[in-house]
Amino acid sequence: MDTLPRDWPEWLETVKTFSLSDFLAWALRTFSPDLAFSTSLGREDQLLLWHLDQTVATLGLSPKSLDIFTLDTGRLHPATYELWEANRSTFRLPVRGVYPEASAVETYVNTQGINGFYRSLESRKACCQVRKVEPLKRALKGKRAWITGRRADQAATRQKLPLLEWDSAFGLIKINPLAEWTQQQIEAEIAVHKIPVSVLHAQGYPSIGCAPCTRPIADGEEERAGRWWWENPEHKECGLHLAVEPKFRFQREKAHGPS
Ligand code: SF4
Repeated sequence: MDTLPRDWPEWLETVKTFSLSDFLAWALRTFSPDLAFSTSLGREDQLLLWHLDQTVATLGLSPKSLDIFTLDTGRLHPATYELWEANRSTFRLPVRGVYPEASAVETYVNTQGINGFYRSLESRKACCQVRKVEPLKRALKGKRAWITGRRADQAATRQKLPLLEWDSAFGLIKINPLAEWTQQQIEAEIAVHKIPVSVLHAQGYPSIGCAPCTRPIADGEEERAGRWWWENPEHKECGLHLAVEPKFRFQREKAHGPS
């Protein structure tokens, strides 16, 4: 889609009172099969995967009703690969891997170094461009909507995160069904449903990215403080999520939690 869909105003009206399951069911009914869900295998994404697995089964849909993928940068934590593998026996819905172009990685490494991203913001963004942004663009091609597990209280860069937004860069609707949830609510829901999560969370990593660019956080630090910890907070995004104009965003006046 190149322009804001005609149904945008109607959608804003429809989703006003939605719970998480309502949101996912609506997304599947409205956008399937042109619906994507990108997972980093962090706890928010595991929670969404569990709910999507249930919702697809409840609605009697095929596992091909949406495209679930993870960006395998080649630099992920070993624990992330272990969880990804374990998901194969936990969920009916598969998570496919999306990979960077081999020649682009080779050029980056041979010109900037295998860990060149520590040297400057430009070099770090160049690495994220090759290993994340370009593969994401490929994965989202032709999709009409994209579900993400982002939350507003994760970081300064996400404080105004809406539930629904029109992403003109990718030409699709971005759905952030956990935008209003707190970390405590996520953890409680995970405990209730016994959803498997990465062992890294218990080791002090609330936010999981590439191994060399993520470290555990200290008490009181914001959740994404361990991502690119050597940079200023306003730079802590990898280019996957770009700013959206206020008229293309939807936030509820009163936040809904898990129910
Ligand atoms: S997070 Fe680090 S290793 Fe991963 S793509 Fe970005 S700069 Fe490269």
